[in-house]
Formats: sequence, C-alpha cells, structure tokens
Amino acid sequence: MRMYDIIEKKRDGFELSKQEIKFFIDGYTKGEIPDYQASALCMAIYFRGMSEAETVTLTECMAKSGDTLDLSQFGDLTVDKHSTGGVGDKTTLIVAPIAACLGGVVTKMSGRGLGHTGGTVDKLEAIPGYRTSLSEEEFISQSKRINIAVIGQTGNLTPADKKLYALRDVTATVNSIPLITASIMSKKLAAGSKNIVLDVKYGSGAFMKTTDDAEILAENMVNIGRGCGRNVTAVLTNMNVPLGDNIGNALEVKEAIKILKGEQKDELYEVCVALASEMVALFKNIPSDEAKKLVVGAIDGGEALAKMKEWFAAQGGDARCVGDETYLPSATVIYPVLSQTDGYITKTDAQLIGASAMILGAGRESKEDVIDPSAGIVLCKKPGDKVRKGEVLCHLHTCDVSKIKEAEAVFLSAVKFGDTKPEKQPLIYKIIK
Ligand code: URA
Repeated sequence: MRMYDIIEKKRDGFELSKQEIKFFIDGYTKGEIPDYQASALCMAIYFRGMSEAETVTLTECMAKSGDTLDLSQFGDLTVDKHSTGGVGDKTTLIVAPIAACLGGVVTKMSGRGLGHTGGTVDKLEAIPGYRTSLSEEEFISQSKRINIAVIGQTGNLTPADKKLYALRDVTATVNSIPLITASIMSKKLAAGSKNIVLDVKYGSGAFMKTTDDAEILAENMVNIGRGCGRNVTAVLTNMNVPLGDNIGNALEVKEAIKILKGEQKDELYEVCVALASEMVALFKNIPSDEAKKLVVGAIDGGEALAKMKEWFAAQGGDARCVGDETYLPSATVIYPVLSQTDGYITKTDAQLIGASAMILGAGRESKEDVIDPSAGIVLCKKPGDKVRKGEVLCHLHTCDVSKIKEAEAVFLSAVKFGDTKPEKQPLIYKIIK
C-alpha cells in the first residue's frame, strides 16, 4: 500500500477502505509517513469529507493508537462529559460531583486551555495541593472508592490525535467535521467511559460559530460514538456570551462552589442541571426529566457539595476552600471597569472577554505561558441589563497591574450597547440523542 495512492483516492472523492485508514494512522503515528503527505490527506478530507463508515474507522484507529483505559469493572456506570470549549465554562467542576454522588463513576481526563478558552485542568490546579496527575492505579482506586477522579490527559493517550491536531493547526485543516469528530471521539473512546455527554457550544466564543454547524458536528459525534458502542447524548449550548459571572481559574472554582451550595440559580445553573441530567439519564437508563429531579435534589440536599469536597481532598487539594473561599488564590489588584455610556447591554462578546481574561494572566497565548490562577474577570452586568455611564460593568482581577489598561480596552470592545432591551437568547438550543 502506498500513501500516494490513498491521497489520490481521497482527492478524487472516493471512499477509503478500513485498511487504508489504518495504514495511514499507524504509519503516521510511528513517524513512517511524513507530515507533507499527512497534510495533503487532511486537506483532501477537508474538501471531500468522509462517510460515516470512514469516520468510525478513523476514530477507532486513532483511539487505539496509544494506551486505552479499561473501565469494564465499573459496568455501565462510567460517565464522561466533554465540552467543545468556551469562556467561563466551569461545568465539569459542577456536573462531575453531581453525577458521582448519584451513583455514576466519573473517571475523567481533562485538558488545559489555550487562547481565549480555559481548560478544566488549569481550574483544578487553582485549588492548592490538587494533583492533576495520578498513576493509573491511583486513578482507578480513587474512582472505586469515591466514584470520581479527574486528571490531566496522560502522555500515551491517542498519540495519533496529538500529532494530527498539531499538524491540522498549522495547515488550515482544523475545521473539518470528520476530523474534529475523530479527534474528540477518539480521546473519549480511549478514556473508556460507556456513557458520554457532549456539550457542543456555538457562538462567538466557540469553535462552531453557528447553530447549524454545531448541530452537524453534534449529530456526527453522537452517531460515531454509537457506532463505536458508547451511549452518547449531545447538548447544544450558547457560547455567544461567557457562561456564568466568573472567568479565570480560581474565580471559576469559587463560582462552581456557589452553584453546588445552591446560592446561584442562574443560566450557569440551568446549563449544569441540563448536562448533569443527561449524564444521570444515561448511566441510570432513565428518562431525562426523572434524572433532573435527582440532580436538583442532589444540589438542594448538599450531597453534590459534599462529593466535591471529598473529591478535592482525595486528590490532595485543600478542601477547606469549599467552605471558605479565602483558601483559594486571590488577586492583588481588583480593578472596576466603568461603563462609558448609558443604555441596554446588547452583547458581551465571549471571545473578546476570554481574550481580556487571558491578558490579565488567566490563560495562555502559547503552550509555554504560565498561568496566574487568581487572574480573571467577574462580570457585574449582562446582556439585557440597563446601565448608566459610570456604573461598574465588571471587575478585573490580576497580580500584574501593568496588564490592566490593555485588558480594560479589550473588555470594553466586547460590550455593545443599544437603546432597546435585546431579546433573550436561548441557552440550550437542542438536545440530540
Ligand atoms: N477539539 C479537539 O479535541 N479536536 C479538534 O479537532 C477540535 C477541537
């Protein structure tokens, strides 16, 4: 078999066989196929697409390119959640302990943030002492003991995706539905959970800008996950505005704690209840509305909060932060950004607000950048609010005062005003099962 023939076949719009896809993934992972041929194939896939059968094979080959986690000892109780990435997205911190306290086994590997979006691992590292790296033995034994363990991705999981994603990133081939599907679902398959809930975001702060694109991606991922023997539900959620009030690592941990304390019943709460309900519905095999009652009960009864505390402590984190947020890092400078005008807020652009938080030190521009866990933004106003000139729109948190002016300018460019109250946008567009 020759890579040249595989590229030519896809370039001309034909379906690749299982053997051809396996040849490509195995050869590329081992370094036997050069980057220039892999890029040519990615570009051909970008233009020609892939059939469902091809995407299933690609996903399975990528999943098997490195280590895979065997969670069969937990039966059908394992449950994972994946978000396609957003600004202020702290849902894992909230839904994981809810699912765990209701009997699910949440053995989760999460990623770090890059650019304007944050990653769960960075948020967890804001908790003093929390270990995001556990041995496989520790990971499994903690999951057995308390039903929950959340760590960073291990080095050997889906090496094919690591290489291919880096290549796609520099060859303008990221935005291909079969390639995104295989990339995300291969990691989920390798991580071993039987049940998977996908939070597919759409809007300015998301990877998919429109509901149409998000829906195609979600349907594709659900079908491929099923084709690979997993139970998958996708929830399409709005990322035109940041999720919740806090953006930045320790700030997001604080907000997650508030949600589980039942002190914040806003849009973030709504999204978390929807995601957690779908997780519970899958591992208990019950209807979503029945699962929702259990989820709301676990928050109101304090079981989810107790599980969060147990989880943080089990991974070495200072769980006193759950009762007292002064145990979390806090910024040395807290700066109010004032409105320059009167009017209704019509938009708070998620991507720009994420960029402003990154300037303050909450995110990374390149992989090598070091994060300030205390940095970020606390929003005081949202779309639909009426504000007067001079009112506080948000507080910028940082330990580097030199960043304030630039972050303030980017934040102000994210906020748009109008004379009439804008219509409320739905937060959950669709659930695909
Ligand atoms: N996230 C991933 O993990 N892979 C993609 O291809 C796109 C987003």
